[in-house]
Amino acid sequence: VLHGGGNTSVKTTENDIHGEQLDVLYVKGSGWDLATIEPEGFAPLRLDAVKRLAELPSLPDTEMVNQLRLNLLDASAPNPSVEAILHASLPFSAVQHTHADAALALTNTIDGDQRVRELWGESVVVVPYVMPGFELAKACAQEFEKQASSDTVAMILMNHGVFTFGETTEEAYNQMIEVISQAEDYLRATAGVDITASAAAGKHHPTNGSALEQAALRKELAHVAGCSMLLVNTPNERAHQFISRPDLVDVASRGPATPDHIIRTKQFPMVGRDISTFVSNYHNYFERNKDRFPDIQELDPAPRVVLDPDLGLLTAATRVTDCEIASDIYLHTIDVIEASEGLGGFVALPESDLFEVEYWELEQAKLKKSSASLPMAGEVAVVTGSASGIGLACVNALLEQGAAVIGIDLKTPQAADNPGFLELGVDVTDRESLRTAINNGVRHFGGIDILVAAAGIFGTTSEIADLVPDEWETTLSVNLNGVSNVLQVTHP
Ligand SMILES: [Zn+2]
Repeated sequence: VLHGGGNTSVKTTENDIHGEQLDVLYVKGSGWDLATIEPEGFAPLRLDAVKRLAELPSLPDTEMVNQLRLNLLDASAPNPSVEAILHASLPFSAVQHTHADAALALTNTIDGDQRVRELWGESVVVVPYVMPGFELAKACAQEFEKQASSDTVAMILMNHGVFTFGETTEEAYNQMIEVISQAEDYLRATAGVDITASAAAGKHHPTNGSALEQAALRKELAHVAGCSMLLVNTPNERAHQFISRPDLVDVASRGPATPDHIIRTKQFPMVGRDISTFVSNYHNYFERNKDRFPDIQELDPAPRVVLDPDLGLLTAATRVTDCEIASDIYLHTIDVIEASEGLGGFVALPESDLFEVEYWELEQAKLKKSSASLPMAGEVAVVTGSASGIGLACVNALLEQGAAVIGIDLKTPQAADNPGFLELGVDVTDRESLRTAINNGVRHFGGIDILVAAAGIFGTTSEIADLVPDEWETTLSVNLNGVSNVLQVTHP
C-alpha cells in the first residue's frame, strides 16, 4: 500500500463502562498511514451497529461518516476508514486490504477478470469495480455471499486491490503475502516482468535539463494552481526509461493505477510542458462530469506530475513531502503500466469513475488533513551561511513557516532529516561552484523565491598599522564579493 491507501481491522470483545460485553471492530482511522500507524490510529466501533448499516438500501457519505462516529467507543478516535462497513460485514476476526501493484497490474488489463480466474480459479471472490464507500461495502457483501466457499482465500476488487482474512492478523497477513506473491509469479511467467523490482528503487539518473527552464515551468504551474508550488525533480533511471518510450503519450494518458491515487497525481501526468492545453483539457473534463454531482467546485487544474524528455519526472505540491508522495506513486504507476502492457495493454477506469473519486469529499478530506497550509508553503529560499548563526536561524524560521530551503555553507553538509532542506557545501567566494550549487538547488525544488545572504565572517580586530593584508582580503571576499556572487548567480 502507498501513502494512506489500504486498511486493516480486527474484531474482538470488550466490556463497556457498565461491564457488559460488546463485540468491537477496530479499523484503521482515516488519515493514518499503514506504514506508520500507532494503536490510537485504529477506531473502535460497535460491530453489530456497523454491520446493521450494511442492511440500509443507501447511505449518503456524510451520513455514513456521522453514523460511524456515533458508533465509536472512544469519542477522541479518528474517523473510521471509509471501508469500515465492508470490514464489519466480512465474517472473519482479522481483515486486511491492500492496493498491491501486482494485483493492480493484473486487473488493469483488457481481460483482467479472465486472468484473475486463470490464476486463482474459484478460490477468490471477484468484485467488479465499484466506488469505495457504502456502495462497495454492499457489493462486496453480496459477491461474498454468492461466490465464497470454504476454499476462499481472498477477495479481488477489480482496478482497486485485494482483501484477505483470517482468524488472526498473522493468518490474514500471510494470506495477503501468498496471494500477492502468486500474482507476482504470474506476471514474471506471463508478462516477463518482475514487478517487485520497483521503479521506486530505480538508480539515480540525473537529467541534463536546464534549471532556468524548470523554474519557468514552475512559475507557469503556480500561476494556474493559484498558489506557490514546488516542482521537485526525481532523477530516476526507470522514470527516464519510461519517459523515453515512443508510446509515452499513449500509455501515460490512460489514467492512474487505482482511483485513490488521483488526489495526489491528478487523472494523468502532463507530458511535456504545454500547460495551457493540460489546463483546458482539465476544464473540459470537469465540465463533462460535474453535472452528476451537485454543488462541486472545480479543483485547481494544475498538473501534479510532469514527464518531460529534458527535465525528467517532476512532481508539484506545496510541500516537499507531498511532491515525494506523488513521485513515489507515479514510480509505482510506471511498474503497473509496464506490467499490464506485458499482459496485452494497461487499461485504466473510465473518467467518470475517476472523477467520482477525485471529487469525493471523503478523499479530499484526506488531503486536507495531511497538508494544513503554512504561510510560506510552496516557496523556496536560498540561505547562505546556513550552518550557523544568523543563517541557521533563518533556515529554521523559514522551514517552520513551510518554505523549502537551499542552504549554502562552507561546512560539509550533515544529512538533513527534513526533506524541505537541501544543504550544499560551497564557498560563496567561488562563483562557479556557487553557480553549479544554485543550479542543483533549482533542479531539486523548482526555483527560488527568497534569498538570504547571511554568509559572513568577523576578521581579527586590529590597529590599522597591524592589519594583515590576507585577512583583510578574505573578509572583503566573503562579506562583499560573496554577496555579489550569490546575487549574480541567482539572478536569472
Ligand atoms: Zn482500497
